[in-house]
Amino acid sequence: MAEAAYDVAIVGAGPAGQAAAERLIAAGMSVCMIDEQQRPGGQILRQPAPEHRVAGWMSGRLYRHLQAQLRRAEALATLDFIGGTSVLGLWRAGDGFRLSLGGQRMGSITARRVLVAAGCYDMPVPLPGWTLPGVMSAGGLQTLLKGQQIVPGQAIILFGTHPLMLVLAQQLVEAGATVRAVLFAQPLGDLLWRMPRHVLAALSHGGPLLAVLHSWWVLRRAGVLLRLGARVERLVGAKDVLAGADIIERGASYRIEGDIAAMCFGFLPQSDLPRAAGADVRSADPAGGWETIHDGGMRSSVPGLYVAGETSGVTGADAALLEGALAGVAMAADAGRISPADAKRLAAPLRRKRARLRAFVDLLRTVADPRGYLPVPAPDTLICRCEDVSAASLDAAIADAVTLGTQVSASAVKLRCRAGMGLCQGRSCEWGVMQRIAAATGAPMTSMPGFRPRYPARPMPIADLIEPA
Ligand SMILES: Cc1cc2nc3c(=O)[nH]c(=O)nc-3n(C[C@H](O)[C@H](O)[C@H](O)COP(=O)(O)OP(=O)(O)OC[C@H]3O[C@@H](n4cnc5c(N)ncnc54)[C@H](O)[C@@H]3O)c2cc1C
Repeated sequence: MAEAAYDVAIVGAGPAGQAAAERLIAAGMSVCMIDEQQRPGGQILRQPAPEHRVAGWMSGRLYRHLQAQLRRAEALATLDFIGGTSVLGLWRAGDGFRLSLGGQRMGSITARRVLVAAGCYDMPVPLPGWTLPGVMSAGGLQTLLKGQQIVPGQAIILFGTHPLMLVLAQQLVEAGATVRAVLFAQPLGDLLWRMPRHVLAALSHGGPLLAVLHSWWVLRRAGVLLRLGARVERLVGAKDVLAGADIIERGASYRIEGDIAAMCFGFLPQSDLPRAAGADVRSADPAGGWETIHDGGMRSSVPGLYVAGETSGVTGADAALLEGALAGVAMAADAGRISPADAKRLAAPLRRKRARLRAFVDLLRTVADPRGYLPVPAPDTLICRCEDVSAASLDAAIADAVTLGTQVSASAVKLRCRAGMGLCQGRSCEWGVMQRIAAATGAPMTSMPGFRPRYPARPMPIADLIEPA
């Protein structure tokens, strides 16, 4: 089959990708939008598969403008949406890029410009018992709920530091789930100390704040245990599945029973593709990971490669919408499809709105900051779950590198103990590996390079990568 060629390929059909597509199509450009999901929507508006109907799907007031954007994107007649398909790699080809695809649509396409709007993923935090069946990320739990209205298990415990837990717990309760507890590791005193610096500025964007307070109220009325300063130390099993969580609060220990425990300590930018393409990145605070460095038009350091939404730093869906639109305007201008004057005129209000969102983003980052509240893995806790590398084996590999005087980087440690070599390509353990290197060497995590991202960016059966004879 001939390789399809586009003016722009967009990776990710979340709010950022949709907003960019709208601007590009308006400028008369040929655009494809590729997503692993069957339908556009991204993480926040993950749509059920066409054969599933979910009553009242994402009908809350907070989602209305995102729903409107989604409907507009789905109505773009010339947009080529390629669903159920992963972008596995991205290379320079001629004056543009070649993208290799896997899943429902195999092979490759070319595009003169590429926008990576691949979103973010839950920060994985290793702790004793986290590999037990029944332990998952809050995002995983929400994915089941949004996509298929599935509530796994009988009694759910949410723990971490991120306020999204409250929104998720409310969604679970409204879907008929039993949520046993929502446990914030940070004590009230810490929150009260940190918040006033941002709260007045953030009131200008009060919708999400009110949503969180409303969730708290709904959960209280539903009898859900809501605790601040309650740290989950370990997840405990019975007959090899999750049976509960051991918690420490104000020096006292107690156990809450449950068959599902979901962690929510924050989100990491999904930036493997820009990193693999050589784009400059920086450490993303506070949860970690790598945000792609960009200019005001969302241009990365690689000419022709743009980023928007959480790939460029985790700032939420509203900022993702604005960044996607900014990237669309910049790509249309760079391609000569709109004049520099029009680009300036179109970008100005988007930039102003994005600057106004900053206060809310800063508040959220401050409140949710997981540093100082993270559970401690035991020596036998697996840090790399794909390759079964425990904390003790990892520490031995780090100590070995230190003794030999080798530069102790995540990649050097990977070569010694295989941490990061598995199916997830280090997405789950990179942060844990770097944290242990930092603890052993005293080097700050922010100055440490992570694993070198490798092809394929997504796990893929080998058979799918082989050209049919
Ligand atoms: C599981 C999860 C649930 C979330 N739920 C909420 C919520 O309820 N409320 C809230 O305010 N925020 C939520 N967030 C944060 C949320 O992601 C953003 O605020 C918002 O969706 C960001 O929009 P985006 O366009 O940057 O990325 P996203 O909406 O994440 O869209 C990115 C898209 O890229 C696709 N993608 C990624 N990599 C590839 C690839 N290699 N090939 C093909 N497709 C790819 C993904 O499938 C995804 O659809 C959630 C995040 C996660 C990870």
